[in-house]
Amino acid sequence: MSEETMQCSSCRTAIPGDSDFCPLCGTLAQTEGVVCVTHQDHEALGVCVICSEPYCSDCLMKIKGQYLCARHSMVEVIREWARAYETTDTTDAQMIQGALEQNGFRVVTQNTSSVAYVGAQLGETGFQRSVSKRPVKIFVPADRFDEAVAFLTEWQKGTPVDDGV
Ligand SMILES: [Zn+2]
Ligand SMILES: [Zn+2]
Ligand SMILES: [Zn+2]
Repeated sequence: MSEETMQCSSCRTAIPGDSDFCPLCGTLAQTEGVVCVTHQDHEALGVCVICSEPYCSDCLMKIKGQYLCARHSMVEVIREWARAYETTDTTDAQMIQGALEQNGFRVVTQNTSSVAYVGAQLGETGFQRSVSKRPVKIFVPADRFDEAVAFLTEWQKGTPVDDGV
């Protein structure tokens, strides 16, 4: 681990000096010898900020300044966070958030125009059923998006769909 930092050549974020790529936008720190996972004869341009796989310019999409591969191009990404779940049911949102946090995922939720840390408030508000018109979006760190979605798929299978009380 190095204390040195360098600046991403694309988004100007300060990143650790030994980084292979910028975790925020996916730009490779150096492209020499890095090839696209789909086109072995194409030099990679950057990595998808979700799966960290290197891709060439034909494969990557740059969305709001961040590289995404075709498989992840539909995922909403805000800086280093990727949207793993969306619901208009706040109880559902709290349960999903709780399940993710219990399993070691860092989570932020967004239900207005700003991203806020709400974890600390959950103990107070309890599990009242209230349905908000605005969707609650649940974000996890982009590099753990696939893991979080796989976890939620399994978790939901094991959860009664019933409201309970
Ligand atoms: Zn960058
Ligand atoms: Zn990807
Ligand atoms: Zn390619």
